[in-house]
Amino acid sequence: MVNRKRLYNISEPIQIFLYFSNIKEFRAIFEFSLFLWYNSIMRRIKMEKKKCSRCKKFKPIENFNNCKNHSYGKSSYCRTCTKEYRIKFKEKYPWKFTYRYILTRCYNQRSDHYKQYGAKGIRNFLTIEDLKSLWFRDKAYLMKKPSIDRKDPKDNYTLDNCRYIEYSVNSSKSHLTYEERKQSSLNAIKKP
Ligand SMILES: [Zn+2]
Repeated sequence: MVNRKRLYNISEPIQIFLYFSNIKEFRAIFEFSLFLWYNSIMRRIKMEKKKCSRCKKFKPIENFNNCKNHSYGKSSYCRTCTKEYRIKFKEKYPWKFTYRYILTRCYNQRSDHYKQYGAKGIRNFLTIEDLKSLWFRDKAYLMKKPSIDRKDPKDNYTLDNCRYIEYSVNSSKSHLTYEERKQSSLNAIKKP
């Protein structure tokens, strides 16, 4: 015996649609939603300029970075404003930058550094407040390019295991002992 599948009747949904389209209210709602849909598409196509919410200038859409969470997928600040804002923010709260840096290293799988950190099981136990206290304890504001360092490279980011040292020392430290690194970091501060 051949088991034949029942063919789907295409005319059914059309008939349902025709039935509903005879109702006035339904037709009005349907037309209105079509109108909104069409409008949103046209607005997206027409939008060539956007107002920056920081400098209040109208600029071409290419001058805005892509940002998923904002309207039309573009950020509210123009590129130059974003750059300025970032620099000012970094000067004001450098430890917050470090915090974000650590999080991307440990938890963002798309990050280039993830292989050396997150993939090896290194986790973050520091808060922004912890990093702020470290920043002032180690006098990172006197450094040319401060960077966060773990005393024991196999251990997590914890308050006891972390400190700020000069970047040049941090990147070339693998062959040095802890005391040597500390000394070279101090020397780097004294030089200027
Ligand atoms: Zn701007």
